[in-house]
Amino acid sequence: MVIIAKPKKFNLRLMVQIFFFTLIALISVNKTLAATGMGIPFLSTASLHALCPFGGVETLFSLVTTGLFIPKTQISAVILMGLVFLLALLFGPVFCGWVCPLGAFQEWIGKIGKKLFKKRYNHFVPTKVDKVLRYLRYGVLVWVLTVTAVSGTLLFVNLDPYHALFKFWTGTVALPALILLVFITIGSLFVERPWCKYTCPYGALLGLFNKIRIFKIRRKTETCVSCQKCSRSCPMNIDVCRNETVSSLSCISCYECTSDRNCPKAETLLVQATQKSPQVSIAVVAIVMLTVFIGGIVGSMALGIWSSKTNDQGSGGKNNGNGQKIKVEMQEEVTD
Ligand code: SF4
Ligand code: SF4
Repeated sequence: MVIIAKPKKFNLRLMVQIFFFTLIALISVNKTLAATGMGIPFLSTASLHALCPFGGVETLFSLVTTGLFIPKTQISAVILMGLVFLLALLFGPVFCGWVCPLGAFQEWIGKIGKKLFKKRYNHFVPTKVDKVLRYLRYGVLVWVLTVTAVSGTLLFVNLDPYHALFKFWTGTVALPALILLVFITIGSLFVERPWCKYTCPYGALLGLFNKIRIFKIRRKTETCVSCQKCSRSCPMNIDVCRNETVSSLSCISCYECTSDRNCPKAETLLVQATQKSPQVSIAVVAIVMLTVFIGGIVGSMALGIWSSKTNDQGSGGKNNGNGQKIKVEMQEEVTD
């Protein structure tokens, strides 16, 4: 008997994830190369914090109250923050599901876990413990915003696994951040996206948009056969099969549940503004997302608003933590 292998279905989200992961990795390497005069032409040498939309959230308090950016952040981070919020208002936290390199990294490590543990993967944490742990990231969010506002510095960088992931080879990453990255990497072998689920402050903030997003994931009960494949495919363990509309704070808008790789019934899990409005395809979500990102960056460059040059690169000022503004002439003590 000849067994014909099923052709692999094209995974658009994976392509987008690889693109953003590679871009951030190259920029990170380029910053170090540029310091030796061997930078890659036309590629940004910006600090990772200047390109992180959460940096925009962290610097907002300082910007509003003192008119200064927290060291290592810039207007670029604030612009990216605005673009991510706009997308979250439309489609939920697509940044988490499609763009965030740390989210993608955990997912890729998780593929090994899936091979090792099969159906047990992502079901090791007892439901009651999981429920309690999911509140942890809100505590982390409040803590990060408070210490940043009070100190006027990016104290979170000493714990930030995103920074550790792209800078571990430079010898400039704080030990707690490296240890946390190791924990997350090992944890991802058992639990899908453990950092996103339990600790990420940005994921906590973006998750709130699931309550007000315009385009929601809706399950058509007339065609659903309750096979639970959508629930099983969800990296965040959301019971999609028992909900008519997904509004969980944990949803990362990866749209795995709606994919025909997972739901066997066509036109059953739909992305719609209302039950009666036309459905939006995942390709359209991806096109809108990339257009908003690229258009927003190019547009703000054309308007002369965009700048990712941080004060460690020779401009701006910083708050010394005692409320005094001092000019930065030396390399930052918080290294990048
Ligand atoms: S929850 Fe945090 S780490 Fe996870 S994808 Fe979102 S921003 Fe990235
Ligand atoms: S509910 Fe669907 S879109 Fe949301 S995280 Fe789960 S699989 Fe992804």
